[in-house]
Amino acid sequence: MVSTSRSESADEDPRPRTPSPDAKLDAALFRRKLMNWYKSHARELPWRGVNDPYRTWLSEVMLQQTRVGAVVDHYKKFLRKFPTILALALAPESEVLATWSGLGYYRRARMMHKTAQFLTCERGGVLPTTAAELRTLPGIGEYTSAAIASIAFGESIAVVDGNVERVLLRLTGKPEVKTAAARAFVQRKASALVPKRRISEGLNAAGDHNQAMMELGATLCLPRNPLCLHCPVYSMCTTRGEHVTPPRGVQLSRPAAYLLSLRKRGTLTEVLLELRADDASLMPGMYELPPLPLDAIQDREPLLRLRHAITNTNYYVQVFAAHGPQDSGLRHAVPASKSDLHWVLTNRLGALPLTGLARKALQRLDVMAVNLPKLPASIAD
Ligand code: SF4
Repeated sequence: MVSTSRSESADEDPRPRTPSPDAKLDAALFRRKLMNWYKSHARELPWRGVNDPYRTWLSEVMLQQTRVGAVVDHYKKFLRKFPTILALALAPESEVLATWSGLGYYRRARMMHKTAQFLTCERGGVLPTTAAELRTLPGIGEYTSAAIASIAFGESIAVVDGNVERVLLRLTGKPEVKTAAARAFVQRKASALVPKRRISEGLNAAGDHNQAMMELGATLCLPRNPLCLHCPVYSMCTTRGEHVTPPRGVQLSRPAAYLLSLRKRGTLTEVLLELRADDASLMPGMYELPPLPLDAIQDREPLLRLRHAITNTNYYVQVFAAHGPQDSGLRHAVPASKSDLHWVLTNRLGALPLTGLARKALQRLDVMAVNLPKLPASIAD
């Protein structure tokens, strides 16, 4: 006889049941499932598996607000140039910014440079080993200190970035909101899950667990379309893709115009750049193409159009030639004072702290090249 009782039917149902939002997570089971998945699915990244706290620090700083794909090359280039904390501390700031150029959020590079100088002068060029001590250093906050302490030194402390926050809110069925209460809840959950063991027999349980949590959020528990059917903790998840996605932030659009002015120096070429003031609120001390007022470019045809996104703003950029049949006179429309304008040899551009936008424009215009760029007759003096 076939039983019709509810409990027996549910037991025979092959589909995993969705845990209730208030169900307590089995931390040991969660960690086991997560680590089994991580061992076979973790992406190979140059900062993984290295035993150098400086590299962990560098990768964590670079990864803040920046995609992994954009970080890998910059990370390798930065390390080639500044392989140690001492090498970084001894470099001039302009060289550090030039090497960082293209990654954006230049304050990160400035702070790392200052902290490397502080460590060199005050602590023998060595990073402290605990999150509490790391947090006392300039530019190292809660997230970075926990990441360095757990990944490089095995401290049992949870690392909570945007990816981990998303995973834990979905897993527990809490709304994805950015409130202090939600942050405190996530921090408590993350701390309850992190393994308590320190490094033993070469295994860094806490560091690996934290990296696995971030990897899950970055590769499967995606902000818009999570890949739940591939998720190692699917059976423990309350929402399984049925969460409410928070609306995207409003994207702003801004037009911007810049001047490209080139001149020959014998066989070499120079380009006119503007140095942003040291006290500028954005990208101080960086070089860019001289900005043009929008009313100066009316009815003129640009050399280049491009879109450049910075946080929540899309800049629709046009670059105009200083000289040429249609554009003569634009050079005088640049509002910058003479002392902020500099002629720079194009073969020196790679060593300059350029803004990401300037680098992108100069590369697209074939001005920033290893060899002498071929200049259209209309834009060379
Ligand atoms: S099942 Fe889906 S929503 Fe839940 S943690 Fe996994 S990827 Fe995220």
